[in-house]
Amino acid sequence: MSIPFRGTCMTCKKELPKSQMTSHLGRCLRGDEDRLHVVVDGRHAPIFWLHLALTPGATLGQLDSFLRKIWLECCFHLSEFKIGAEHYVSHPDDRDSQSLRHALSSLAPPGTELSHSYDFGTPTRLRLRVLRTLGCPPGRDSIHLLARNVLPPSTCVCGAVATQFCDACADTWVDLCDRCADDHDCDDPALFPIVNSPRMGVCGYTG
Ligand SMILES: [Zn+2]
Ligand SMILES: [Zn+2]
Ligand SMILES: [Zn+2]
Ligand SMILES: [Zn+2]
Repeated sequence: MSIPFRGTCMTCKKELPKSQMTSHLGRCLRGDEDRLHVVVDGRHAPIFWLHLALTPGATLGQLDSFLRKIWLECCFHLSEFKIGAEHYVSHPDDRDSQSLRHALSSLAPPGTELSHSYDFGTPTRLRLRVLRTLGCPPGRDSIHLLARNVLPPSTCVCGAVATQFCDACADTWVDLCDRCADDHDCDDPALFPIVNSPRMGVCGYTG
């Protein structure tokens, strides 16, 4: 774990510290299409982060799908957004409850912080901050990835690049290469692939 909290700008491919990405995007992006600039990070794992650009019409449902695809989906759990006191659940059983059809821009103006939870049993919780309106190049996608964290490479005890970790040895954070994972022999091995997602090691998530 040498250089944590760095990420890549998808426009110029430059790698930068997390703390500089917001101002970098303001300089790097060119265009006059209004987009909502949203930063997402793992509530308990801020090493994982994304910068997104949303069209004014992009809905909570589209944002939920985007987050599931890039970071979350393992076995189609429920999810919800929480904005202020309101909950917006992915598959509401209750017909009176709020749905995900609202546009984010209508509920969360710049300055709003909201949260997203995926899976109510073993949840992955995300923090979303709506920063500002940003001028972007034209594009058809409702949600566009502007920047993403880089996962620092980790090393197995043998010196090779680690590809898995053992959750049962979580106190000591045992990272393993494939060969050492085959030989790993703790009380109750729980091996998971190392993936660039705050859902790494949770439920059946494999990236
Ligand atoms: Zn850039
Ligand atoms: Zn699952
Ligand atoms: Zn173990
Ligand atoms: Zn090894």
